Amino acid sequence: MVEGIPSIWRKIPNRYRLEGNVCETCETAYFPPRVVCPKCRRKGKLVKKRFSGNGKIYSFTKVYTPPTGLELDAPYHLAIIELSEGPKILGQIVESDDKKVKIGAQVKMVFRKMKEDGNAGLIHYGYKFKVID
Ligand SMILES: [Zn+2]
Repeated sequence: MVEGIPSIWRKIPNRYRLEGNVCETCETAYFPPRVVCPKCRRKGKLVKKRFSGNGKIYSFTKVYTPPTGLELDAPYHLAIIELSEGPKILGQIVESDDKKVKIGAQVKMVFRKMKEDGNAGLIHYGYKFKVID
Protein backbone atom coordinates (compact mmCIF):
# COMPACT_ATOMS: atom_id res chain seq x y z
CA MET A 1 0.00 0.00 0.00
CA VAL A 2 2.95 2.34 0.55
CA GLU A 3 3.50 2.88 -3.18
CA GLY A 4 -0.16 3.91 -3.54
CA ILE A 5 0.08 6.83 -1.13
CA PRO A 6 1.91 9.37 -3.36
CA SER A 7 -0.77 9.29 -6.06
CA ILE A 8 -3.57 9.75 -3.53
CA TRP A 9 -1.54 12.55 -1.98
CA ARG A 10 -1.54 14.45 -5.26
CA LYS A 11 -5.23 13.92 -5.92
CA ILE A 12 -6.59 15.20 -2.63
CA PRO A 13 -3.99 17.55 -1.20
CA ASN A 14 -6.33 19.51 1.05
CA ARG A 15 -7.32 16.40 2.97
CA TYR A 16 -3.73 15.42 3.66
CA ARG A 17 -1.84 18.64 3.83
CA LEU A 18 -4.49 21.06 5.03
CA GLU A 19 -4.06 23.11 1.91
CA GLY A 20 -6.46 25.92 1.23
CA ASN A 21 -6.00 29.36 -0.16
CA VAL A 22 -5.88 32.97 0.86
CA CYS A 23 -7.15 36.09 -0.88
CA GLU A 24 -4.28 38.53 -1.30
CA THR A 25 -6.72 41.41 -1.67
CA CYS A 26 -8.58 41.11 1.66
CA GLU A 27 -6.26 38.58 3.39
CA THR A 28 -9.10 36.16 4.19
CA ALA A 29 -8.01 32.50 4.38
CA TYR A 30 -10.20 29.66 3.11
CA PHE A 31 -10.32 25.96 3.81
CA PRO A 32 -11.28 24.10 1.74
CA PRO A 33 -9.95 26.40 -1.00
CA ARG A 34 -12.41 28.66 -2.83
CA VAL A 35 -12.49 29.36 -6.53
CA VAL A 36 -13.56 32.96 -6.00
CA CYS A 37 -13.20 35.13 -2.89
CA PRO A 38 -16.83 35.75 -1.82
CA LYS A 39 -15.86 39.16 -0.40
CA CYS A 40 -13.84 40.53 -3.31
CA ARG A 41 -15.31 38.60 -6.26
CA ARG A 42 -13.32 39.42 -9.39
CA LYS A 43 -11.01 41.81 -7.55
CA GLY A 44 -9.77 39.02 -5.30
CA LYS A 45 -6.54 37.24 -6.05
CA LEU A 46 -6.46 33.75 -4.53
CA VAL A 47 -3.17 32.01 -3.85
CA LYS A 48 -2.48 28.56 -2.38
CA LYS A 49 -1.82 28.37 1.30
CA ARG A 50 -0.82 25.49 3.53
CA PHE A 51 -2.19 25.87 7.03
CA SER A 52 -0.08 25.25 10.10
CA GLY A 53 -2.62 22.88 11.66
CA ASN A 54 -2.55 24.89 14.88
CA GLY A 55 -5.79 26.20 16.25
CA LYS A 56 -8.27 26.04 19.08
CA ILE A 57 -11.55 24.29 19.80
CA TYR A 58 -14.43 26.52 18.78
CA SER A 59 -17.16 24.04 19.67
CA PHE A 60 -17.39 20.29 20.16
CA THR A 61 -19.67 17.35 20.75
CA LYS A 62 -19.18 13.80 22.01
CA VAL A 63 -20.15 11.09 19.57
CA TYR A 64 -21.50 7.87 21.08
CA THR A 65 -23.03 6.34 17.95
CA PRO A 66 -20.41 6.60 15.23
CA PRO A 67 -20.75 6.01 11.51
CA THR A 68 -19.58 2.68 10.08
CA GLY A 69 -15.83 2.32 10.25
CA LEU A 70 -15.36 4.41 13.38
CA GLU A 71 -16.96 2.02 15.89
CA LEU A 72 -13.67 1.28 17.60
CA ASP A 73 -13.06 4.94 18.32
CA ALA A 74 -16.39 5.61 20.03
CA PRO A 75 -17.11 7.51 22.12
CA TYR A 76 -15.00 10.32 20.71
CA HIS A 77 -15.07 14.07 20.39
CA LEU A 78 -15.89 15.79 17.15
CA ALA A 79 -14.95 19.46 17.13
CA ILE A 80 -15.05 22.57 15.05
CA ILE A 81 -11.48 23.84 15.08
CA GLU A 82 -10.74 27.49 14.47
CA LEU A 83 -7.36 27.44 12.74
CA SER A 84 -4.90 30.12 13.79
CA GLU A 85 -5.15 31.49 10.22
CA GLY A 86 -8.92 31.93 10.58
CA PRO A 87 -10.90 29.18 8.82
CA LYS A 88 -13.03 26.76 10.84
CA ILE A 89 -12.92 23.06 10.05
CA LEU A 90 -14.50 19.93 11.45
CA GLY A 91 -12.24 17.27 12.90
CA GLN A 92 -12.05 14.37 15.30
CA ILE A 93 -10.15 14.93 18.55
CA VAL A 94 -7.78 12.08 19.36
CA GLU A 95 -5.29 11.11 22.08
CA SER A 96 -6.59 13.78 24.43
CA ASP A 97 -7.81 13.55 27.99
CA ASP A 98 -11.59 14.15 28.20
CA LYS A 99 -11.03 16.91 30.76
CA LYS A 100 -8.81 18.81 28.32
CA VAL A 101 -11.38 18.85 25.55
CA LYS A 102 -13.05 22.22 26.04
CA ILE A 103 -13.83 25.37 24.14
CA GLY A 104 -10.70 27.44 23.65
CA ALA A 105 -8.28 24.51 24.15
CA GLN A 106 -5.24 24.71 21.87
CA VAL A 107 -4.95 21.89 19.37
CA LYS A 108 -2.58 20.78 16.63
CA MET A 109 -3.20 18.68 13.58
CA VAL A 110 -2.04 15.08 13.55
CA PHE A 111 -2.04 12.70 10.63
CA ARG A 112 -3.93 9.52 11.51
CA LYS A 113 -5.68 6.52 10.11
CA MET A 114 -9.30 7.38 9.30
CA LYS A 115 -10.77 3.97 8.53
CA GLU A 116 -9.85 0.60 7.18
CA ASP A 117 -11.59 -0.94 4.23
CA GLY A 118 -11.21 -4.59 5.21
CA ASN A 119 -12.19 -6.08 1.86
CA ALA A 120 -9.82 -4.06 -0.27
CA GLY A 121 -7.12 -3.85 2.37
CA LEU A 122 -7.08 -0.10 1.98
CA ILE A 123 -6.28 2.19 4.86
CA HIS A 124 -7.45 5.77 4.60
CA TYR A 125 -5.52 8.53 6.27
CA GLY A 126 -6.42 12.09 7.05
CA TYR A 127 -6.13 14.83 9.60
CA LYS A 128 -7.35 14.74 13.18
CA PHE A 129 -6.60 17.03 16.10
CA LYS A 130 -4.92 16.59 19.44
CA VAL A 131 -5.16 18.90 22.45
CA ILE A 132 -1.76 20.30 23.37
CA ASP A 133 -0.83 21.04 26.96
ZN1 LIG B 1 -10.91 38.77 -0.83
